Amino acid sequence: MSIRADIIVKSAAQLVTSFWGQAETSQKSDGGLLLIEDAALAARGDKIVAVGKTSAVMEAVDASKAKIIEAGGQSIAPGFVDPHTHPVFAATRQDEFEMRIRGKTYREIAKAGGGIKSSVRKAREASEDYLRRHAALYLDRFLACGTTTIEAKSGYGLSVADELKLLRVIKELAEAHVVEVVPTFLGAHEIPEEYHDRREYYIDLVIEEMLPRVAEEELAVFCDVFCEEHVFTFDESKRILQKAHKVGLIPKIHADQLSEGRGAELAAKVGAISADHLDYISDEGISALASSSVIPVLLPGAVFFLGLKKYAPVRKMIDAGLPVALATDFNPGSSPSQSMPMMMALACTQMRMTPAEALVASTEHAAAAIGRVNDVGRLEVGMQADFVVLNVSDYKLLPYHFGMNFVDKVVKKGNIVFKSGNEIHDNANIKI
Ligand SMILES: [Zn+2]
Repeated sequence: MSIRADIIVKSAAQLVTSFWGQAETSQKSDGGLLLIEDAALAARGDKIVAVGKTSAVMEAVDASKAKIIEAGGQSIAPGFVDPHTHPVFAATRQDEFEMRIRGKTYREIAKAGGGIKSSVRKAREASEDYLRRHAALYLDRFLACGTTTIEAKSGYGLSVADELKLLRVIKELAEAHVVEVVPTFLGAHEIPEEYHDRREYYIDLVIEEMLPRVAEEELAVFCDVFCEEHVFTFDESKRILQKAHKVGLIPKIHADQLSEGRGAELAAKVGAISADHLDYISDEGISALASSSVIPVLLPGAVFFLGLKKYAPVRKMIDAGLPVALATDFNPGSSPSQSMPMMMALACTQMRMTPAEALVASTEHAAAAIGRVNDVGRLEVGMQADFVVLNVSDYKLLPYHFGMNFVDKVVKKGNIVFKSGNEIHDNANIKI
């Protein structure tokens, strides 16, 4: 007897996904991507029950009660997973953006009240309700860009009460919003102003008070640290992450972003699930990651937006066998974009990743960076039914038409949760 489907998307020009199950090798593209033409996908409840050629899927499932979506000329891909975001903040920083364009230095901007310190000040002043309403709006935009799962960090509170406030906002969002949210505690984002001449007290506060409270109240899965010269040193980061591990939080690291600081090596040493940024990773750092299970998460949006030149050496990482992931780093200071397709475009144009590698990095590898590789990030029977229907007939057009949004429909756990209303298709579909 065939399996009853609740929703079927059929006759898609293309379905693309990385794939662990049985697949014809002839269907596999570079970067481990499986590509099926004239494809369909069927789901029952929140799970995928069939993926393949339209004819094979329609034969395999009972479609009598299913909602059927005709996707002629469109393509299907896994819902994007964004494994590094800072979505809970009180205000955007567009004035500071303009000051930077006009040549003001980081110091001048900080003096004028800008920078991360302004985000901390405003997040502390804001009510939980205000922060939640704003973050919910940002989550809506993630969804409109095709992202169905995100990691979300605290880090603009930097006091016991304010870090807990931000994490409670993240928890409420996780419960209320269709975008799945995986929480990370980032009390070690910056040394707050009031601790500038006694930084060791702040580190003790993170270790002795914040971490036990976060763990006890089950407010986070991961603990992240900004390991960088003038922020948290290698040794300070190590102390914090070792304590995190002890209280049951999984380490993550902002590593080697602006300078080489052995952040990747530290990630391997403390058993981090991911090491993020890595624009300045050394060859030793790449070797350390290659002999560990740490996922490198690259954030080209931050390099691009800050007008920097040095992107992570992704070809070296891929040559070393590393499962590179991409993320937006969505935050008000250095990367105010929620678009994974835009990150794919930057990865292709600035780092020379192929479109297939960029897609796998935005789905399967991104899921691995937040411990969700067994249920999201791939279109395979038994996986959660999280996918996007795109207004392009070839996935390569996603990074090619950079800065555009081709998301037509988003399906999360088997439900249609976003419809664009657009009818824009690429030229390949116009029959002359
Ligand atoms: Zn970040």
